[in-house]
Amino acid sequence: KKLPERKPDWLRIKLTTGGNYAELKDMMRSKTLHTVCEEARCPNIYECWANRTATFMILGDICTRACRFCAVNTGMPTELDLQEPERVAEAAEQMGLKHCVVTSVARDDLADGGAMIFAETVKAIRKKLPFCSVEVLIPDFLGNRDALQTVMNVKPDILNHNIETVERLSDRVRAKAKYPRSLELLKRAKEMQPDIPTKSSIMLGVGEEWDEILQAMDDLRAVDCNILTLGQYLQPSPNHLAVERYVHPDEFAKLKEEGLKRGFSHVESAPLVRSSYHAHEQVKSASEA
Ligand code: SF4
Ligand code: SF4
Repeated sequence: KKLPERKPDWLRIKLTTGGNYAELKDMMRSKTLHTVCEEARCPNIYECWANRTATFMILGDICTRACRFCAVNTGMPTELDLQEPERVAEAAEQMGLKHCVVTSVARDDLADGGAMIFAETVKAIRKKLPFCSVEVLIPDFLGNRDALQTVMNVKPDILNHNIETVERLSDRVRAKAKYPRSLELLKRAKEMQPDIPTKSSIMLGVGEEWDEILQAMDDLRAVDCNILTLGQYLQPSPNHLAVERYVHPDEFAKLKEEGLKRGFSHVESAPLVRSSYHAHEQVKSASEA
């Protein structure tokens, strides 16, 4: 089936560069920091930054993996930057963030996968911004339990790890990850810190069937995952995984219902939803749940 050349209307966004957006971009460069908001050309950047939410990508901008949907470059990662946690905290302070998401490339070259830097970053942000909630969106650390424990010990406000797609498509979409390993990570996180909400994300439009999405929801609920985000996959370049279809907003709405029925405390489900979209509200709803 051939896709329409133009994206459907619901995926076209109004770009309004308001406020101090340019200034914030300059600040990121001067601190040699990377944000997913910019690197992934996230359609929500103006809204999120204005609402004082941002997603920092730590541990460099070169990944040891090459997931077929992802725009991040693959190669030999840069040396570990021990000052990075402090610079992220300074940037978060300058932005006056209320919710800060910290994520990273997969550093399979490091023994702890970068878990220590994650933990230090959470601590540094907390010190400067005690009222800013901190969500970590972590890689699977190749299943390393100690690495996960390092992150859970600093008690992030949300532990996020994306399964990205349904089980059948997992190998195709993110070759070096494993669907059961991701579920196991979420399960262990909950065992280590039962009070910390866990969260995961599925991108739609890569060939998944309706029942498979529901099954993935059930799998996530079986490990007591609390928050779910669902959004439309958009191909970052012609060399990346092709979009199979554009999922209609009504289907996203239906899936939100299905998610809530299954007991997720919060479900964000719409075409332009990304993992950290409206994340600040999720902290609230998860702690109220
Ligand atoms: Fe950044 Fe996430 Fe918001 Fe996109 S949804 S702009 S990546 S914080
Ligand atoms: Fe992109 Fe993460 Fe996959 Fe690396 S592990 S290629 S950063 S999705």
